[in-house]
Amino acid sequence: MLLTTTTQMACQRVRDIEQHQIPQTIEIRVLRKWISKGKKEELCYQFIDTYGDCIEATAEVKDIEYFDSIIQLQSCYKVSGYICTSPRTYMATVEHRASLVIGRKAKFDPVTNSNIPTTYFNFATYESIKTRIKDTKLLTDYIGRVEKNYMQSTGTGKLLQKTLLQDEMERKVEITLWPDMRHLIGDDVIPGDIVAITSTFVTEYNGLLQLESTYLTTVAVNPDVLQTIEHVNRLKALPAVQHTQTHDKIVTIMDLKQSSQQNIQSPKNFVCEAKIKEIHEDRGWYYVQCSKCSSKLYPQQGSGMWTFVCKDDDDITPNFRYSVNATIIDATGSADAVFFNESMQEMLNISCEDMVTKHANATDPKIVPQLLRSAIDTPRLLHLTLKNDGKIFVNNVSEVTSATATQSTTTGPGTSMFTPATTVPKPSMFTPATPLPKLSTSKRQAPASPAEQNRKKKRA
Ligand SMILES: [Zn+2]
Repeated sequence: MLLTTTTQMACQRVRDIEQHQIPQTIEIRVLRKWISKGKKEELCYQFIDTYGDCIEATAEVKDIEYFDSIIQLQSCYKVSGYICTSPRTYMATVEHRASLVIGRKAKFDPVTNSNIPTTYFNFATYESIKTRIKDTKLLTDYIGRVEKNYMQSTGTGKLLQKTLLQDEMERKVEITLWPDMRHLIGDDVIPGDIVAITSTFVTEYNGLLQLESTYLTTVAVNPDVLQTIEHVNRLKALPAVQHTQTHDKIVTIMDLKQSSQQNIQSPKNFVCEAKIKEIHEDRGWYYVQCSKCSSKLYPQQGSGMWTFVCKDDDDITPNFRYSVNATIIDATGSADAVFFNESMQEMLNISCEDMVTKHANATDPKIVPQLLRSAIDTPRLLHLTLKNDGKIFVNNVSEVTSATATQSTTTGPGTSMFTPATTVPKPSMFTPATPLPKLSTSKRQAPASPAEQNRKKKRA
């Protein structure tokens, strides 16, 4: 005990580090490591000391192998020989008036110190995140109680995970997880759970504050670490969450058919567990769009080569989009539906362009390639839009989970779940809660940085 106190005394507290000071030994745990995506790529670290105070350190990306050989994540070190400078000004994960630069002169002596925390949160209050809208300097950590957790399909067929949180005064903030980060909050997260999220970007839509995921975002559900206990206890003491629906309403095909006869006023989004029974070949399974004007392109053959041409534009890129007419079926019946691009891509794991150019007769969309037929017969959750005229458009699909399976089986076949108005969430497809970037061609792309997202939003 005495010994620990002595070693701590010899070290500077991370909280007290100033820009341009002479470096003193600090004793820290290395919490996170990442490569920043900004104007300049940097190798970044997050250091925490025994008091729970954090600071960022940066190094040159080219030295990554060297630092990997001397610094291990979650290990503790006495660090000296660094340089104290100003904090990073883009997507900083820590609020500190200084940051460290580490080079070959920096010394990392391994120590064992179980008193240093293994996690770091710098939870912002509701009031303070309001001041951070569109601010890219500092990323935001937040903790709240789940009021609603659901997937939302957008106009471009992307599936977002949305989690509505309440703070201790029941003020609402919504998490938006982009497709590549959607897995961070699963379907098993239910109203009443506590969610702690880190490194988000604050935006606002329709007066509701949004915490958008970045490539650095992490999530802890019902965290039980020391740093969160007080928050968790306060949030758990709130009056019980009113049970709200967690998804677009889950319906059967019979429900869909009944509701389309009831002349719905506006398109509505539903989720339906069903499978493709048959693909209607004669309707074609894809179309090709002009990259400049989005109108239909025509195949043209010249000197043995097929190209796609626009009637108006030159120098264009053909954009291939799935549009598959099919019969869907569940225990209650069958219906016709059109599967849009994202839904087919999700099922087949191959882009439409690759399917056309590598697996199909490139000029006749009425010949369905064998690979496309592999989408048939597997039950999936279809995220669909029911139009006023009864047409069904499938925007995306997801795996059938146990949670959703139970929900849908509790309504036996024949029981209509369709009760218009009240419980049906606002149609999300045509009014995405967050302005979305234009659909990109490769869906497995690395997440865009907030700056990139912003640029895209402006264009959109
Ligand atoms: Zn065109």
